[in-house]
Amino acid sequence: PTAHCPLPTAQMTHDWKAIDAAVRVEPGEKSKLKERDTVCDHLFADRDAAEEALKDCAKAINDLQDRLWAERSRSLLVVLQGIDTSGKDGTVRGVFNQCGPLGVSVTAFGKPTEEELAHDYLWRVHAAVPKKGMIGVFNRSHYEDVLVVKVRGLAPSETIEQRYAQINAFEKHLSENGVVILKFMLHISKDEQRERLQERLDRPEKNWKFNAGDLEDRKLWEEYQSAYETLLDRCSTAHAPWRVIPADKKWRRNAMIAAIVHGTLADMAPTYPRVSWKPTDFTVV
Ligand code: ADP
Repeated sequence: PTAHCPLPTAQMTHDWKAIDAAVRVEPGEKSKLKERDTVCDHLFADRDAAEEALKDCAKAINDLQDRLWAERSRSLLVVLQGIDTSGKDGTVRGVFNQCGPLGVSVTAFGKPTEEELAHDYLWRVHAAVPKKGMIGVFNRSHYEDVLVVKVRGLAPSETIEQRYAQINAFEKHLSENGVVILKFMLHISKDEQRERLQERLDRPEKNWKFNAGDLEDRKLWEEYQSAYETLLDRCSTAHAPWRVIPADKKWRRNAMIAAIVHGTLADMAPTYPRVSWKPTDFTVV
């Protein structure tokens, strides 16, 4: 960074590397999803402090994105995965709310269209990868192709089996071409999901979010957990490791993700391009 533009960093009241280490799935190791806590109240123990940290990080993420855009050579891809009600939308709102729409693109991946199904499953995903200078957020992603597709048997098992290596190769290709990848699984307990689904029935302003299909997926809870465990075991790589975020508490989830996004951007240290002239060379009349 140039001297007059010090890198903006949030007030580091938290140790983001320690938080990151606690939630990262180390490449080559088993994720042991069942043993991972959905609360983790030792990380960001204090709610007020977490909310302050979130605010600071969200602002700093915006400042850093401005530099990323000025630099125009790299991008950041944030993948959000999680079972229904795990808080993917809430994370987008909570963490990127300081970023203007020019700097962040959010793509939600729903059931593939006929056109999308006529291509390979990574086609629509590759097209949505953020261009240089942007932060891109995926609300669901290519991982649905080894989750819902697996659990619901929408493709032959041999086809699905090949996808883990294909996904790793795809993400390696992206990372070698300037895309930094952060993958977050929002990990909630089955009890917490029951409460959140019930809330959608109980509160009129949340009724619209209720989808009877979610109850069908809830019946397949174990199958989904097992499909998640497999992808965490097989697709956490050095170039794109997974983080399993304890997501039963929304404020802690947001604070942790913001801390890791901010820490990653700060490590990327995007810089404003140097100019070949001096501001005093010119006079604005
Ligand atoms: P959300 O539940 O994320 O708020 P939607 O109600 O549009 O949004 O749900 C998206 C649905 O699309 C989910 O049920 C998800 O499983 C499904 N979906 C996403 N990707 C695929 C895919 N590749 N194949 C089949 N279904 C998919």
